[in-house]
Amino acid sequence: MDRAVQPPLNTFAGLSLVLDRVAELRDESAWIVEQARSPLARYLLLDGAGEAFLHRDRDALRWLDANERERWFGDLRASLLGMAYERPHFLLVADDPARMGELEHALDARRMSLRSAGLLLAADEASLFAYAKGLSHWQRETRFCTHCGAPLLLVAAGHRAQCTNAECARLHFPRTDAAVIMLVEHNGACLLGRQAGWPPGRYSTLAGFVEPGEALEDAVRREVAEEAGVIIDQVRYHSSQPWPMPASLMVGFIATAVSRQIRMRDHELEDARWFTPAQIVDGIADGSFLPSTRLSVSYQLLAHWLRQRAGLELDALTAAATPG
Ligand SMILES: [Zn+2]
Repeated sequence: MDRAVQPPLNTFAGLSLVLDRVAELRDESAWIVEQARSPLARYLLLDGAGEAFLHRDRDALRWLDANERERWFGDLRASLLGMAYERPHFLLVADDPARMGELEHALDARRMSLRSAGLLLAADEASLFAYAKGLSHWQRETRFCTHCGAPLLLVAAGHRAQCTNAECARLHFPRTDAAVIMLVEHNGACLLGRQAGWPPGRYSTLAGFVEPGEALEDAVRREVAEEAGVIIDQVRYHSSQPWPMPASLMVGFIATAVSRQIRMRDHELEDARWFTPAQIVDGIADGSFLPSTRLSVSYQLLAHWLRQRAGLELDALTAAATPG
């Protein structure tokens, strides 16, 4: 049966639909030089803090072409992101804070964080920005060999770092930290929690990092037990999302609890409680319940649950609560 490709559910996900990372060509330096000089080449520019340059007058990335790259950043190494829309795509990191104002003016651009731009950019550009930000963070943070302490040298078009100590010569690869995020349900209610520093009324699904020796499902059970003392029965995969802030992969689950008994064990949360769909609807309407940002898997898990269990659309509920 033919099935159309589904649009990606989560922001920053779905990059494989538009981008070929051409990992097999990362060591083909002659090919890469040729691509970098091509009139089709596009350069995504990030500053040292991982903010991207967007057009000043529209919500789109301000890509540089090969001429602009040569004029402004002839001395900077570019990392190969891959081929998209039959054009080579590269990452450039401008790490000189003194030049940023000048650059913004010259490129008629503004800088924006991934968190802000993720809500404004088209899905493909948001995903490319996330990929570039994750890669540049790893490059910036991975300067010394974790085995022998010698300086590292970026190789493979920016995707590996090699130890410069010839007796060690270890290769280091970009790392991603897996985190689980889960909507826990029990007989028509879902478990949400809040941290002390959050805006008033903000409740979100529980989440936490996967530990060594742990399967994702085990991490779900442990985190829910630690944060809320709730015992989990079934765990079902929902979706995942790259979350390079700075280096996470969020893996979303729907889990079923055996009971509603809550006992806060690790005090990571200020509060955890069960919400019925009706309580969420009323809370959004009167401003006492604030869901997570639309960018997050947490929002998508809650939206999915409300749709499945109560036929409600979270987008419509939040839009009605915030007119204009
Ligand atoms: Zn080493």
